[in-house]
Amino acid sequence: MELNISRRNLLRGAAVSAAGVAALGMAACSPQAPAETAAGENLAETGAKHTWEVKPEPIAADAITQSVDTEVLIIGGGYSGTCCALSAAENGAKVILVEKDAVLNGHGVGGTGAIASRALDDLGIKFDKSIEMERWVSTCGSRCRESLVAKWFRESERCMNWFLDLAEANGAQCMVTVGSNSTVHPEIACYHFMFGGPIFEEHTMADFVEYMFEAEAKKVGAEFVYEMPAVQLVQDESGKVTGAICQDKDGNYVQYNASKGVVLATGDVSYSDEYINEFAPIANKVMTRLCSDQGNVGDGHNMAAWAGGAFQDGPWPTMMHPQAAATFHGPFLFVNPEGKRFMNEATWVQGKCLGVMVNGGADHAWSIFDKNWQTDLLGSLETGGGMFWDTFRAYGSEPQEAVDGHTGTVENGLVDVPAYYKRADTLEELAELIEVDPAELKATVERYNALCAKGEDTDFFKESQFLFPIEEGPFTACMVAPGLLAVVGGIHISDNFEVLTADDEPIPGLYAIGNCAGDIYAVDYPINIQGNSHGRCLVQGKCLGEQLAGVYQEQN
Ligand SMILES: Cc1cc2nc3c(=O)[nH]c(=O)nc-3n(C[C@H](O)[C@H](O)[C@H](O)COP(=O)(O)OP(=O)(O)OC[C@H]3O[C@@H](n4cnc5c(N)ncnc54)[C@H](O)[C@@H]3O)c2cc1C
Repeated sequence: MELNISRRNLLRGAAVSAAGVAALGMAACSPQAPAETAAGENLAETGAKHTWEVKPEPIAADAITQSVDTEVLIIGGGYSGTCCALSAAENGAKVILVEKDAVLNGHGVGGTGAIASRALDDLGIKFDKSIEMERWVSTCGSRCRESLVAKWFRESERCMNWFLDLAEANGAQCMVTVGSNSTVHPEIACYHFMFGGPIFEEHTMADFVEYMFEAEAKKVGAEFVYEMPAVQLVQDESGKVTGAICQDKDGNYVQYNASKGVVLATGDVSYSDEYINEFAPIANKVMTRLCSDQGNVGDGHNMAAWAGGAFQDGPWPTMMHPQAAATFHGPFLFVNPEGKRFMNEATWVQGKCLGVMVNGGADHAWSIFDKNWQTDLLGSLETGGGMFWDTFRAYGSEPQEAVDGHTGTVENGLVDVPAYYKRADTLEELAELIEVDPAELKATVERYNALCAKGEDTDFFKESQFLFPIEEGPFTACMVAPGLLAVVGGIHISDNFEVLTADDEPIPGLYAIGNCAGDIYAVDYPINIQGNSHGRCLVQGKCLGEQLAGVYQEQN
């Protein structure tokens, strides 16, 4: 597949590679210091109530300086909100989107997961929905709502084709990236990476999708208002949500009245310690939060709860990548800061993060490999790979491309970020560099090499084809560190995205989509379908937009 990525974008986006994605994730962030309760503190122990449990006094009518009427009010300008704005507006609804920030917020590299699409058809790729949905549900501990997940599987192809038409009309191209051949943790090749065109050139890889939705939505009459955070919902005597009150940067209150619905698209809670402590305490163990916008703190969650909405049961799933430090680790030996091995390293991204934090007992570990690592890595990609073990290379490209990409990452990392990448001629010297006891590291490597020679990993039962001995110097260590991307659990919703009470009753007029909406994931985030988080924003945003405009037709 020929790629027409301009040099500017190659440089700007650090190329289409795992390193690029991770670099982007880090660079795109300007995290705020988390406010509220300190990490690990549990409010319940103090007898105090949580923010979402205490409904604030309504803002007085005479404090409202302006009142604006619309049909659909969307709160939040991320992937889900901007998509919904376009979908509703292009189907005839009058739409206003209010955004807290001065910019739209986007993440990733424009990569959207879909179970089928015309781009996949062109490549002759077809997936079994039954198998992939079963993998999704089982990764979620069977605690997600299957009817909501099934809706995604029904709608994904239609919505992805709409998105492809839109992106191509805006001069973008699609590259589908490789998945993983693993039989244990397969990841299907369904990540539709979009690049190119004037909007892509003008913005970044991270947010061009949102700006494309905005540009298209404005063409059909939607209005986008920046620096206008919603602070309270407006409900009538029956409990129906009829609008929201926002506060502009001068402190003035503006009331938006929405006759057809208010959509919460306010993203996740990863910058709220209060929510993390209550619903996703595992996230306190990551090395860093990899930025969910300029810091989503659960505004939409709070407003939903104050209006009578319920949350899905905890623990809420955390989307984590082990790329908070070095971006390459492969399937090689991992040692914790004590120099001990603690897990089967040939696993998927979530498994690596949790393994380091839970079994390694630390916020980082080290991946250790020897001089032959490129040959070993190439061999491992026959039956392994997937996110960051392989790279985001084009479907159909040679695995050697992944090796070349990772070689660049490691060699550059040794120079540019020496805190995360270390190399030495002997294991003793390497141990000094990574600050572990040299005797401990040596003993761990000897034991690991003995398992490699035996051909069976009786310590952690890593598949034998991933047992590569560490014998010939120079030896390299890459720091494996979990980063939190998003907490993808939240507000209890119906299959039509209505916010539900604890008794499963819809709150009329109120909807939630994207990361602030719950139920489609639980316990853990499944990446057998790479990019399905954007994929769910696409499906939920498009379907709800159509629904609010009165044109949605349920797929069979
Ligand atoms: C670095 C990084 C890379 C990622 N890469 C990928 C990827 O490649 N593929 C993938 O599938 N997923 C990826 N994700 C996951 C990603 O979070 C979601 O897929 C997606 O961006 C969520 O979109 P959203 O619309 O739900 O929320 P967000 O994108 O978080 O948008 C929410 C918006 O609501 C606004 N807001 C919040 N409160 C208010 C308020 N009170 N009033 C008005 N506005 C408000 C926020 O400012 C924000 O703009 C990545 C995440 C990160 C952090």
